[in-house]
Amino acid sequence: MILSKSQYIRGLQCHKSLWLYKHNPDLRDASSSQAESLFNTGYQVGDLAKELFPNGVEIAFDSDNFDGMIQKTKELIANGTEVIYEAAFKENGIFAMADILVKNGDGWDIYEVKASTGAKEYHINDTAIQWHALSRAIKLNHAYVVHINNSYIRYGNLDIKELFAIEDITDIVLERQEEIPSNLTEMEEMLQGNIPDIDIGGHCSSPHGCDFWGHCWKHISNPSVFNLYRMRGSKKFELYYKGIVSYDDVIEKSISLNKTQRLQVQSYKDGNLTVDKPIIKEFLDTIEYPINFFDFETFQNAIPRFDNQRPYAQMPFQYSLHILHEDGTLEHKEFLGDENSDPRLSLIKQMLEDITPTGSIVAYNQSFEIGRIEDLANYAPLYEKELLALNERFVDLIVPFRKKGYYHPDFNGSFSIKAVLPAMFPNDDELDYKKLRSIQNGGDAMDTFANLHLLKDKSKLDDVKKDLLAYCRLDTLAMVRIWEKLREIVEEEK
Ligand code: SF4
Repeated sequence: MILSKSQYIRGLQCHKSLWLYKHNPDLRDASSSQAESLFNTGYQVGDLAKELFPNGVEIAFDSDNFDGMIQKTKELIANGTEVIYEAAFKENGIFAMADILVKNGDGWDIYEVKASTGAKEYHINDTAIQWHALSRAIKLNHAYVVHINNSYIRYGNLDIKELFAIEDITDIVLERQEEIPSNLTEMEEMLQGNIPDIDIGGHCSSPHGCDFWGHCWKHISNPSVFNLYRMRGSKKFELYYKGIVSYDDVIEKSISLNKTQRLQVQSYKDGNLTVDKPIIKEFLDTIEYPINFFDFETFQNAIPRFDNQRPYAQMPFQYSLHILHEDGTLEHKEFLGDENSDPRLSLIKQMLEDITPTGSIVAYNQSFEIGRIEDLANYAPLYEKELLALNERFVDLIVPFRKKGYYHPDFNGSFSIKAVLPAMFPNDDELDYKKLRSIQNGGDAMDTFANLHLLKDKSKLDDVKKDLLAYCRLDTLAMVRIWEKLREIVEEEK
């Protein structure tokens, strides 16, 4: 039996996952590939890392001809090639491709390239299984993980040597060699038998979210103990393994819960809305007109595109601002950066003009907006004072919900705006994120803008931008409507 490197890693995470992958792959969860189809592939971390070891020869990937890839690798090694990218081997029961293989004296060094900002435990397993395979065919000297150095800040041309950090993991990779043969034997025996009897657990999400989730978790009721507010994952599984899954089970077994969890379970049972007007009023009294309802969208790049940008920095590229004046007038302002240039400076300038000089700035979960404004102040010292002054005026709309001034059974333990909004305004098309077109959540917005400069079909650009604007606009309109509803509640039957 031959396993690929990724199948071995899958098997390490969960035997059942490997069994299903081999015997019943149709049960995998569907994945969305919208971003891939809309955009050209960008300059990938793996491609760039090859420049650390220039003039190598690449083995072209051919899913129909792995043997050809292996043969080509052998030929390159035999003819004295010193650097090989995507070198392919089938040895010791494993098919593996080494990202970069570099001749070093009488042997070779393996470089595994990862887009993360550090070497993770599963990267070690990943490299260890490669070592197991490759060491049958060639002499290996060292194993390294090449990862992104997140303290690098780009100025001018990319400095590849600074962008990447190289960690020597040879010792730990060698230690892991001992366990690999028995792991492989166990996997082989397991695959020849019936589906392993493995229950759900922490392994379903660590180190990777398993793609058989839909299949294995379908017996879990909704809601369940897994929805309980801020309960540790280990505690949730402890309850589940004792057969306590639904809220009925939680009540019947008198499980000890904190105040929010109790409210969550009880309100789900009796369907009652909980309103505490003094809490809401106390919150609303902190807000001053004109009220600036404000929300950023950000993107991240593993490889910085602009000067003064770190890998994976949260880069604000868009905001929406609804301004509610004391006379009831509602204004809307917005900013969307140009996808081909650094949006930060023009965003700062427009934001400082758009936000009113006095009055509150309301955000939902304000720490994100405050953090990004701090980043912008660091980026543009000329505007530091004005930017940081904005942070003094923030009010967080999540507070009355966290304090249980308003709790709807449908929140189900979540105070995110995506849970609060549909519960407060059911069947309201104006406030329904699902009625939006291609961009329906922050992740969509982030991925879309990060790749917008790579859009294949430029005639789609206007539509994509409209969708980005509509999404962000809804974020701040939602805040306006939530604020209005809270005010109505306080004013009702005063
Ligand atoms: S969902 Fe969990 S139990 Fe099921 S195959 Fe994946 S890791 Fe294993």
